[in-house]
Amino acid sequence: MRKQTEKNVFKAEFPAKSVNERFARSIVASFAAQADPAVSVIADVKTAVSEAVTNCIVHAYRDRKDRAKCTVYIYCSLDAKRRLTVKIRDKGVGIEDVQKAMQPLYTTDPDGERSGMGFAVMQNLCDRVKVSSRPGKGTVVTLIRAI
Ligand code: ATP
Ligand code: MG
Repeated sequence: MRKQTEKNVFKAEFPAKSVNERFARSIVASFAAQADPAVSVIADVKTAVSEAVTNCIVHAYRDRKDRAKCTVYIYCSLDAKRRLTVKIRDKGVGIEDVQKAMQPLYTTDPDGERSGMGFAVMQNLCDRVKVSSRPGKGTVVTLIRAI
């Protein structure tokens, strides 16, 4: 029998360095573990968080060398109905056309290293994905998943 949970939250922030991508998915997974979810659900959440955080590191702060000053913010909540909400925010370049950016295979990666599937993966693994962005100001990606 899965545990009932009371609403709980946490916030974290860290520099947009690739070493912190693993850290980010681990802290969200540890937080979600209090609801005792299925292993496959935790795996889905970790992958989705990983895609969103990687986007902050790779795209949001793309031309920045001063990585220590480029911050990724995470806000996470788990409500009594076992709904996990993860907000991943950056203060980077922002996205001009969110609808276009979310289309499968769309990428602005000039070197062809990226496949343009990050948002599609997030949408596939979450119940809902919301993206709000302001060019020059930054982006907030909200992932919602019943766990
Ligand atoms: P992949 O995730 O498959 O490696 P990708 O990162 O290009 O490739 P998506 O994650 O789907 O693909 O993102 C699509 C595009 O949206 C990116 O190429 C980038 O232009 C833009 N984008 C995504 N997240 C951000 C962000 N946080 N800040 C600025 N631009 C972003
Ligand atoms: Mg991506």
